[in-house]
Amino acid sequence: MTKKALITGLTGQDGSYLAELLLAKGYQVFGLVRRSSTSNLERITHLSGNVEIVSGDLLDQSSLMDVIAESQPDEIYNLASQSYVPLSWTQPALTAEYTALGVSRLLESIRRCKPDAKFYQASSSEVFGQPDESPQTERTAFRPRNPYGVAKAYAHWMTVNYRQKYNLYTCCGITYTHESPRRGTEFVFRKITHTAAQIKLGFTNELKLGNLDARRDWCYAKDAVYAMWLMLQQEQPDDYIIASGETHSVKELVECAFNCVGLNWQDYVSVDPAFYRPDEPVQLIGSINKIKTELGWQPQHSFEELVKSMVDYDLTKLSNGRA
Ligand code: NAP
Repeated sequence: MTKKALITGLTGQDGSYLAELLLAKGYQVFGLVRRSSTSNLERITHLSGNVEIVSGDLLDQSSLMDVIAESQPDEIYNLASQSYVPLSWTQPALTAEYTALGVSRLLESIRRCKPDAKFYQASSSEVFGQPDESPQTERTAFRPRNPYGVAKAYAHWMTVNYRQKYNLYTCCGITYTHESPRRGTEFVFRKITHTAAQIKLGFTNELKLGNLDARRDWCYAKDAVYAMWLMLQQEQPDDYIIASGETHSVKELVECAFNCVGLNWQDYVSVDPAFYRPDEPVQLIGSINKIKTELGWQPQHSFEELVKSMVDYDLTKLSNGRA
């Protein structure tokens, strides 16, 4: 029988890749999309006609219940959230509404309308904030240090609680930063690869960054969504870290991106303290021992491949006259 999946956050980076993966596996895919006055379907135009778009919003309980009752999904992937950390400081209450309470609404809708559905919650390494151990494991204490991380920690524990209290099949994937050509340009990785391509093509001649020594655990979004799917194929639900298991500095990323376009980064990059993140988390790096041992998952793409694919994408896109 054809499996049915519901994805929230379909229009986002991960939602678009997950929809591709599930369609390739023969699923009937439903994607929850909230109304906007202009189209936000850019990342999924190539999937039009294959994904069934359903209207709903994490802020609205009845829309979630209707969508779940009508689509009767076997698997539900909650990828929707306000996902930009700096915005969570200027809109902390709205971030909590989407990213924390939105998950309560979704879990309650599942409990009432489709309690046998398997549920994936997009948790985040930001729940660790300033961790007291490195690398972090699934047992590392949560010490979130921004409203986004606090909201994700709430959502994480609600997901675990619904598993324990109601015996629902619910899982959290604690994902570290993952990137792709579909990442928004407000995020530092894409900002760097996109600007390197712009500089190469003469659209600009400078790139302003914050702390070049900051290190991150970056992986490819396609690898991450495969891990999400794998988590819901198990007999028993459990929580896993999804990461590359290695860190690279912003400076390494800059060097790699500018090498891809044959330019010397030092001629274009300047450090602007305005881009320093207040309260930079210390050495966030995920241990992937558990997911590797239990599910056989590990990243399939290297850091260098990821950088090159993103720079190449932006070079092509910009050369074709698209920003
Ligand atoms: P993204 O590109 O920012 O996409 C977020 C999605 O959430 C968009 O489709 C957005 O829809 C939707 N959304 C926001 N508020 C909503 C609401 N009230 N109701 C319904 N939909 C709403 O995020 P992503 O990079 O794909 O990340 C996927 C998930 O993983 C997120 O939960 C994020 O917090 C988490 N995560 C991501 C990373 C990462 O590095 N990418 C790391 C850790 C955790 P619109 O198009 O309408 O705005």
